[in-house]
Amino acid sequence: MAATVIDGKAFAADVRSRVAEHVAGLKSEHGIVPGLAVVLVGEDPASQVYVRNKGKQTVEVGMHSVEHRLDATTSQEDLLALIADLNADPAIHGILCQLPVPDHIDGDTILNAIDPAKDVDGFHISNVGLLGTGQKAMVPCTPLGCLMMLRDHHGALSGLDAVVIGRSNIVGKPMAQLLLGDSCTVTIAHSRTKDLAATVRRADIVVAAVGRPQMVPGDWIKPGATVIDVGINRIDKPEGGTRLVGDVDYDSCAAVAGAITPVPGGVGPMTIACLLANTLTACCRANNLPEPEGLTA
Ligand code: NAD
Repeated sequence: MAATVIDGKAFAADVRSRVAEHVAGLKSEHGIVPGLAVVLVGEDPASQVYVRNKGKQTVEVGMHSVEHRLDATTSQEDLLALIADLNADPAIHGILCQLPVPDHIDGDTILNAIDPAKDVDGFHISNVGLLGTGQKAMVPCTPLGCLMMLRDHHGALSGLDAVVIGRSNIVGKPMAQLLLGDSCTVTIAHSRTKDLAATVRRADIVVAAVGRPQMVPGDWIKPGATVIDVGINRIDKPEGGTRLVGDVDYDSCAAVAGAITPVPGGVGPMTIACLLANTLTACCRANNLPEPEGLTA
């Protein structure tokens, strides 16, 4: 039977509309407007597109959006001073510094300078520690989006075997923590895993976050498993031009899986939707108001 296609675009639209509804309530009942500041250093073309989309969607859900586009030669000291200002600004509830930053700036120093309560990317070491110990944290957006889609598809995840391929700090590791938090039996596979095919074949849930085009073939997938493809890779088309593909070979995996996310249109749109959800959550926490239901881990 053909796999259910998990429509991340539609899911993200639903998340955004729930965020917008909650934002409207905050405004009318409390006079509060959640604010998100996005900082971009340099002219990386992909980052420019991400930042533009983030700003546009922030405004669309009724939030206050601030963009700081800094020259590639900006010093670490100046960037830290801007972050200190944003930390102190009561109109800003979420701060995001778009990665990667130029080589002369230490990314970890910047991420750890953001007030953990405003760290809507969930990359500050305090939030990493809180997530790792099962406490209330700001959760990285892409894994949060994956978790929301998995919960929606499966209901409870308890007891399922989950294999996360990739151990990055922004996707693989937090994804594994979230699945553990939902009582999955979790394996993190990576570039040194001995028999990746056999490891993946055990999984009821496969999350691929590697950055290698179509590396997971259908014969690695247990029949009926759910496949979440985080990868975004651009490959050449035989007829010329390029197209986006994920880390799984979509056609062969969709023939075996129970459910699968496409690329594009799967995990990708959920990332910004979860950034907005995190900004709303941060704003509610800052004002001691109830958090939106179903939009946090
Ligand atoms: P990364 O390069 O930081 O990490 C890749 C991980 O894959 C590493 O932990 C490495 O051990 C593992 N790996 C590499 N080769 C492997 C192999 N042959 N077998 C098994 N594991 C292997 O990448 P990342 O930042 O985690 O991103 C992964 C992918 O997800 C990329 O394609 C990226 O573009 C995409 N991504 C998408 C979104 C989104 O919004 N959808 C967000 C973040 C990242």
